[in-house]
This record gives sequence, C-alpha cells and structure tokens, in this order.
Amino acid sequence: MSDGGRSRNNVRGQAWPGGAWVHLHQEATLDKFIRRTSIPAHLYFPLLERSEGSLLRPLVRPGQSVKRGDLIAVPLDEGGLPLFSPVWGEVIALESRVVPWHAEPVDTLVIMPGKEELRLPSAPPKGRPTAEEIRAILAQYGVLNVERLRRESAGPRVLILNGCELEPYLTSTQRLLEERPKEIITGLELLLQAFEAERGILVTTTTREESITDLRDLLFTKDKLSLVVLPPRYPQDDPTLLRQTLLPLGESSLVLDLPLAVATTDAALHRKPMMEKVITVSGPAVRNPQNLEVHLGTLLSDLVSQCDGFLEKPGLIIMGGPMRGQVISGVEAPVTRYSTGFVFFHERAATRESSCMYCGLCINACPQSLYPVFISTAVKGHDWPVLSKLHADRCLYCGTCSYVCPAHISHQRFLRRALDRVRRR
Ligand code: SF4
Ligand code: SF4
Repeated sequence: MSDGGRSRNNVRGQAWPGGAWVHLHQEATLDKFIRRTSIPAHLYFPLLERSEGSLLRPLVRPGQSVKRGDLIAVPLDEGGLPLFSPVWGEVIALESRVVPWHAEPVDTLVIMPGKEELRLPSAPPKGRPTAEEIRAILAQYGVLNVERLRRESAGPRVLILNGCELEPYLTSTQRLLEERPKEIITGLELLLQAFEAERGILVTTTTREESITDLRDLLFTKDKLSLVVLPPRYPQDDPTLLRQTLLPLGESSLVLDLPLAVATTDAALHRKPMMEKVITVSGPAVRNPQNLEVHLGTLLSDLVSQCDGFLEKPGLIIMGGPMRGQVISGVEAPVTRYSTGFVFFHERAATRESSCMYCGLCINACPQSLYPVFISTAVKGHDWPVLSKLHADRCLYCGTCSYVCPAHISHQRFLRRALDRVRRR
C-alpha cells in the first residue's frame, strides 16, 4: 500500500545548484476559475503548430462543411499528431499566414463556425481500454504519440507529470490542479498503463495547502502514484532538473506536462479528440486577466476581447511566460495545442543593459553550472570553438542568468545562438 503521496518531499536535498526565487505575479488569475470562451468568427489552423513540429497535410478543402470532432489534417511524418475541428462550420480558406514560430508563412486552414449544435454526440460509456487501445486512441485523437516517446525514452519506468508552474503570470496549470484533480489522476493512471511504466509521480511547486491536501486525499489509495511538492525555486519545472531532483541517476523516465493527463482522460474514456486548451491571458496591460478554455485555432485578438481588452495599448507581448517565452509582434497568433499563455506589458522596457561588472551572479544562478557571461562573450566575439569547452550545449534556456543579472544583460539571445551553433556541429 502506498502512503497516498504523504511522502511528498521524499527527494534528495538541493539536487541542482543555483536557481532563483522569481516573483511570480500570479495574483491576478490564481483564484479565477477556468472560463470557457465563446466561439470566435473564424478559427485558424496552421499546418505547422510549433517550430520543431511536424508538417500537416490538410484533409479538407475550402467550401467543405465540417462537424465538431472531424479530422481536418494529418501529420506528414510519424512524429506528428492529427488535427480536429472544434466546431461545426465551413472551411473558407487554405491560405498562407505569418506565425511567430516559423520564419516563413505557413499554410493555414480557416474555418468559419456555423450555428449548428456545437456539442459532440455523447459517446456511449466504454469499459476501461487496454494499454494498446489507449496508445492507439491517444495518437488517433491528437493527444500524444506514446509509441514514439516509448522508443525515444527506452520504455520509461517512471512517468513524471509536471504540475510545476514557475513562469510568471501563468496559472492555468494550477487551476487545472484545483478544478480537475480527478481527471488528472485518472489521466496519469491511463498514461502509466499506456507506457507500461512502473510508477507515476505528480509533481507540483504550489504553496496552496488546500490544493496539496486534496491531491493527497485523492492519491491515498493509488499504489503506483505519489505526490511530490517541491519548493518554487526557478527553474525547478525544467524536465532535466525534475529528473535530477526526483530520481536516482540512470532511472529511465519521461516528463509529461500536466494538461496532457486531462486530455488523456478525455480521449481514452470519453473519446474526445484534442480540440481545446486551457491557457492564461494575463499581464499588466490586460483589463481582466483570465484562465480560459479555448478552442484551438482562436486568435489572440479574440482572447483579448474575452478579457475586456487592454487598459492601454501593450508595448510588449510574450507568447509563453516571460522567462522562456517568445516576444511576438501582434495579436494575430492562433492558439495551438502547444500554447500555454500570453502575457501583455504596457510598454517595452527601455534597454537598460549596461556593461558586465563581473559580479558572478549569473554563474552562481545557473542550474547547469555554466558560465553564461563567458558564453555570451564568446558569441559576441564569434569565438565558436570555445562554446564546446564552455559546455553551451547543456544550457536549459531557462533565462535564470538574465533574470539575476544586475547589468540587465539579456543572455538568452546569445544562448540561443550558442545552442544553435553547438548543436549544428
Ligand atoms: S550577472 Fe551580469 S554583470 Fe554579473 S557577471 Fe553575469 S553578466 Fe556580468
Ligand atoms: S539559460 Fe542556460 S546559461 Fe542561463 S542559467 Fe539557464 S541553463 Fe544556465
């Protein structure tokens, strides 16, 4: 019998060096229930959903009607996942559109929702699927390619479900933990079955005692599952550091993001394809920051309207959180299954970057024991051979070095180039 997750901090002491206690600014949305958004006038489905993703092939043409849950595109390689229409409506275009994650415009399906009944006919309740059935359903319904991940991670013995949320302003993961804990735990059990793993760890960095107690109660009778609560020291949410903290060296494991557990329950038990995503829209420039359950394909401009617009025109928009996210130039980006949130700031902080004062703070803060200041200097001087000696390939791209730098040096722009350079060699 397990201890129901009561051994919540049964982890080695500080398993990695450095890090930072980042101000999370989560108060605007942490207590706000997830709200389902209304359907916008148009939905946009890029046939490449993220920079390192798979290209998709459209299965529908302009002029064709679609129902909610219809398959609209399939991946061109076995690593990708299919795409489904979240609405009844009509495909009105297949056009080239600019997306923030790709240098070239990407072919995009545009769907105009109709007025028909928007619910899927409820699927008859089915018995518990077998491991093989779960794997097939998850791939078929656009959630996860278990077969590929099993191959890549040598059949993981441990699954770590990452419920840590350390990106400032984002709170959708914590809201899921508080509002859908049963689906999360059921999803983790189904994933364990699908991966044929021995045990699962639900890990969080929340400090909300009520949420921890609820999860502990739900896990009480689950022999193979445990809960671990870690201190909210950034970047503890990084998969490499989670493994380092939770498991002995060499134990085969896989880290999955928490929303995948909810999507797994929806797909495996209710036969619901991946069609919505819970994300946070927040930041000082947003009038009414929210946690939203959004139809895939919704434009950011529609989400801003659902948050009552801006207090004033934003000067800086970040897709993802401020620590690891990407600055984007406008509100025309669509939500994909990989979106986590959007953060809006009043104005672009004036560049206050000054000269390095060799204080060493970036070195002390680096969880990988790298020398960010020297890596940045090497990139600036095009001194490419030295990057390997500085182990630049081990960079997690977490941004802690930039966060702690008193000279406001944005190391990330150099680290990205360093990583590209080292990995190309
Ligand atoms: S933290 Fe900033 S100022 Fe200090 S050594 Fe690193 S780069 Fe230089
Ligand atoms: S971004 Fe890279 S160099 Fe900077 S602190 Fe993180 S791991 Fe270290």
